[in-house]
Amino acid sequence: MDIMDLLFGELANFLSHAMIVVMVALMFVISLRLFLDRRKKAYMSMTISLIFVGIHCLLQIYFILSGIHTSIADYSQIMLKIISFVLINMGIYQLYNRTNRKQYTFFYGLIVMGFVVSTLHFIVPNLYSGTDHQVRLLQNIGLELYVFVLIFLCFYMIPPYIGQQMKYQLALTVYFLFQTSQLLNTYVYDNAQPVLILAVNLLPVIYYFLLFMILFERVVELMQAIYNSSITDGLTRLYNRKFFYNRVTQHVQRHLPVYILFSDIDNFKKLNDTQGHQMGDNVLKQVAQIMKDEAEECGIAGRYGGEEMVILVSDPSVKMDAFAERIRSRIEKETIVTASIGYSKYKNGLSAEELIKQADEAMYRAKTTGKNKVVKFA
Ligand code: GH3
Ligand code: MG
Ligand code: MG
Repeated sequence: MDIMDLLFGELANFLSHAMIVVMVALMFVISLRLFLDRRKKAYMSMTISLIFVGIHCLLQIYFILSGIHTSIADYSQIMLKIISFVLINMGIYQLYNRTNRKQYTFFYGLIVMGFVVSTLHFIVPNLYSGTDHQVRLLQNIGLELYVFVLIFLCFYMIPPYIGQQMKYQLALTVYFLFQTSQLLNTYVYDNAQPVLILAVNLLPVIYYFLLFMILFERVVELMQAIYNSSITDGLTRLYNRKFFYNRVTQHVQRHLPVYILFSDIDNFKKLNDTQGHQMGDNVLKQVAQIMKDEAEECGIAGRYGGEEMVILVSDPSVKMDAFAERIRSRIEKETIVTASIGYSKYKNGLSAEELIKQADEAMYRAKTTGKNKVVKFA
């Protein structure tokens, strides 16, 4: 084995495909896992497309090892290349979208078009009489050019609908360069241009690596989204009661100097009754946004119950009275409701529950002494 063979010979071709097989196997395991877990069609087509890509690569390896160079081998390879290209790009589209019949028609239509173009393969030998080599080159030129059509379609049609657009377009650009190098090398340089050989072997590895990164990143995004929805409230996007309570407990256990602010919207039931539940929800969102804004620098905000929102202030330098008063006055000015607010300060020996209860009691005192005011727990 010499270095030239490693870089430019059959060995390079073999290594390139072997690397792709490994990456495809990894992607296959990930997407199969996603599919089994969530039973979404999207992951099924991704999984199936990876089987096609895998077969394509394994066949290629088989042809390299066995030295088979027949016209039908060429044909099956390019058809598999087209089918797996379309399916894997459909899989990526589906990672971010529900697929309806229109989109299935589009993607499967691309494959059907491939078969239509591929009839050239069988017509050419009857129309053109040249050397065997010339005929074989001509047989597949239609399909090879069709790959460019597919690349351009994917490049312009898919990115607006998915995340990681830059990475995806980079992957397609790499594939475009690969396809160009392969065509030039086959049709212009008779497989003898070393730089192009290197490109043909290296670029698909990069392409599949980028696809792997897209899939991997998507899995992380999905996990992140599941985690986020498990700790936040769907309507207000504030932390939910459980998460908030756990955070308070953590701070209390470490005896950190924290405050709890407890707010309750005034006469909220009446607002719901007179202006409707939808209006009530909108107001809740507005108030929640104010709480979130104000808590951003000094702690976290949560939704404790229906229209009860809480803030854990973990920055001891905050002047609580002014802080609570600012929230109260912002709610009064920026929304159509007012709120009563109470707050309490952590003292050694208090449990999380007691601390929150004290803030709640202070809020209750604000309610019973006229509402729309701030009361400190005493
Ligand atoms: P007070 O000034 O004493 O706090 O009076 P209130 O009407 O605000 O008090 P109460 O606790 O009796 O009413 C709370 C109401 O909040 C009851 C319920 O209809 C409403 N509510 C709770 N959760 C939601 C929600 O998610 N959306 C809407 N629109 N209303 C909610
Ligand atoms: Mg209320
Ligand atoms: Mg209430």
